[in-house]
Amino acid sequence: MTARSLVQDNKQIQRAIALINLGARLQVLQSETDLPYERLLKLYKEVTGRSPSKGQLPFSTDWFMSWQPNIHSSLFFNIYQYLNKTSDLDTIEAVMQAYQLYASEVRSHGVEALLSVTRAWRLVKFVDSSMLCLTTCTRCKGQFINHTFELTGDYVCGLCNPPARAGKARRAGAIH
Ligand SMILES: [Zn+2]
Repeated sequence: MTARSLVQDNKQIQRAIALINLGARLQVLQSETDLPYERLLKLYKEVTGRSPSKGQLPFSTDWFMSWQPNIHSSLFFNIYQYLNKTSDLDTIEAVMQAYQLYASEVRSHGVEALLSVTRAWRLVKFVDSSMLCLTTCTRCKGQFINHTFELTGDYVCGLCNPPARAGKARRAGAIH
């Protein structure tokens, strides 16, 4: 092994560990590192002390459109987009940093982070493939995740127009 490949290898391992610590699913590690599956599996077990869950990744865009998840997803994506524009980070590094900022922001308001890092990663892919996008709320001018094909000129976000059942969950709005 050359010195360069050792450094590269080490970088990949650090990235994998950082992702595992953020709670990423094994599929995310497979997609974002060049490490072989067996090695990732071993790393995953070492870091978390358990086997990775075997289920499929969520493939639907619907989750991001429901009320509270949409507010969390939009917060994350605004941070991600800002980092992407203002730094030279790789996409996955921007996802990880934005996720950490998002999670500490909501927790500082006593709100649970509804968005997992795996979903955050999926969200970036959905936007990259133009299935979802950011759209501006006509009332608060905030930017929110929306289906690209549902774009209209009179979009109103879930904070300005919460569902009637909102009641106790309304404090999710505190994150804005
Ligand atoms: Zn709004």
